[in-house]
Amino acid sequence: MCLFCEIIKGNIPSTLVYEDDMTYCFRDINPVAPTHVLVVPKKHFDNIRDIAAAADGAQYLSACSKAIDEVAKLEGLDSGFRVINNCGEDGGQTVMHLHFHVIGGVKLTEKMI
Ligand code: 5GP
Ligand code: ZN
Repeated sequence: MCLFCEIIKGNIPSTLVYEDDMTYCFRDINPVAPTHVLVVPKKHFDNIRDIAAAADGAQYLSACSKAIDEVAKLEGLDSGFRVINNCGEDGGQTVMHLHFHVIGGVKLTEKMI
């Protein structure tokens, strides 16, 4: 059972922010900023490396990029925001369905790179 596949199917409730044919974008249950939305492809990919290996990966990645922009517009993140993808155990990924964190609504200070 994949948690985000179940959320996409509606079997587990979530707070939807934006949806299209290829993506489902909902609020993180444990937000770290006023806006913390997870942008998730509707097709299951384990992580960003998995998407590179798939024939339709580029289409889904592009759809995620469009969804990130839509979320930024809907949330009014005009002065900027951060996109994070955690990949694999050492990257801190806890849900093994590819997702991008869109974090903003406040001046973000902690910076790793
Ligand atoms: P990761 O650590 O894999 O990059 O991010 C997983 C994210 O999913 C975490 O920020 C966590 O708070 C969020 N999350 C985990 N379970 C649920 C859930 O059931 N609903 C929602 N909306 N978010 C969840
Ligand atoms: Zn999944």
